[in-house]
Amino acid sequence: MSQTAVKTNLLGMSLPMLQAYFEAMGEKPFRAVQVMKWMHQRGVTDFSAMTDISHSLQQKLLVEAEVRPPIIVEEFLAADGCYKWIVEVASGSRVETVFIPEDDRGTLCISSQAGCTLDCSFCATGKQGFNSNLTAAEIIGQLWWANHRLGGFAPARPHAGKTIRSVSNVVMMGMGEPLLNFDNVMASLSLMMDDNAYGLSKRRVTISTAGVVPAIDKLRLHTDASLAVSLHAPNDELRNQIVPINRKYPIKELLRSVADYIDSLPDKRVPVIEYTLISGVNDQKQHAQELAALLRDFPCKINLIPFNPFSQSDYRRPSNNAISNFRQILQEARFTVTVRTTRGDDIGAACGQLVGEVVDQTRRSERYRRASTEAGNPEKGNFRVFTSADNLAVSVDSARRV
Ligand code: SF4
Repeated sequence: MSQTAVKTNLLGMSLPMLQAYFEAMGEKPFRAVQVMKWMHQRGVTDFSAMTDISHSLQQKLLVEAEVRPPIIVEEFLAADGCYKWIVEVASGSRVETVFIPEDDRGTLCISSQAGCTLDCSFCATGKQGFNSNLTAAEIIGQLWWANHRLGGFAPARPHAGKTIRSVSNVVMMGMGEPLLNFDNVMASLSLMMDDNAYGLSKRRVTISTAGVVPAIDKLRLHTDASLAVSLHAPNDELRNQIVPINRKYPIKELLRSVADYIDSLPDKRVPVIEYTLISGVNDQKQHAQELAALLRDFPCKINLIPFNPFSQSDYRRPSNNAISNFRQILQEARFTVTVRTTRGDDIGAACGQLVGEVVDQTRRSERYRRASTEAGNPEKGNFRVFTSADNLAVSVDSARRV
């Protein structure tokens, strides 16, 4: 192998992939477990430090392979303890990862694509167009990085009688539609839940989808992770406007495929229905009643997410009264309802606000910029593509760049 040949990055390989890699090298498959533990449980990237591996194999790996997490270019810490990391991926784009600490858990929100092709109307990522799918190493690398920064590679520590990790839950709810980057997301989920890697429970790893029905239909063959669905509207007419993929896969088909996936799981679990409440758009009493009727025979939990404003959107956050009325109607219809608390909004880390820095391959970001300027809206006229420099403008009182 010449000095300039590209090395194989082992970080994103699931156990079967890693076993096949070592077998192809003429090594025993158990080497895969050893290397996997070094990478994902101890955070080691240097083969020479993997002390239970023979010297000759270490030398071979040093020539042919590498353990390369993605580059983190910036880190922000919000007043409420949330972290946001700006991750530079091979395509040159930058995506965002968010860590949300709570008393009894730590949730990491991971991105799967640089930008997104789906353009949901309430989402800042969608306004940036699309650049690339993240590799499995770039996806699992976000969890690797969070563990590295938060002390997760150190022995787990007891907390209120329980042993918790820094990252106890993962949600695939960052930038991008995970099911449109299927293979890389599946390899990453497998690592998240593998006892030789992060060992997270399937109940604590959640894929969130806007409704890519053919991918949901094949999900059961690849994973048993939990599922959240971005519904955001109680009927097709409204959902067509808010989540445009609904024109291809309408609500009835979507709920059928979600129910099939959930039925295929061996344990009793229900999907989470995500519903972003947008003032005057989908937050009225009749919407809540229609939603309750739609989901009457569909076991699920409902998570209400008050819209988080961003500069390219005319949408507004609903009043506390509207949120509480909406919730009450659903609770009276006997649904389990949660309202997502806004976290990390002083560092642009709140739900729907993730933007990164996407090298747009579509014309979408340009189209939004032009439309905003033509509308003569001063705020819109000041549109600019988000860059990491925007994050530096965050008030030092409320957030600090680490
Ligand atoms: S909400 Fe998700 S699927 Fe929709 S545009 Fe944003 S990132 Fe894409």
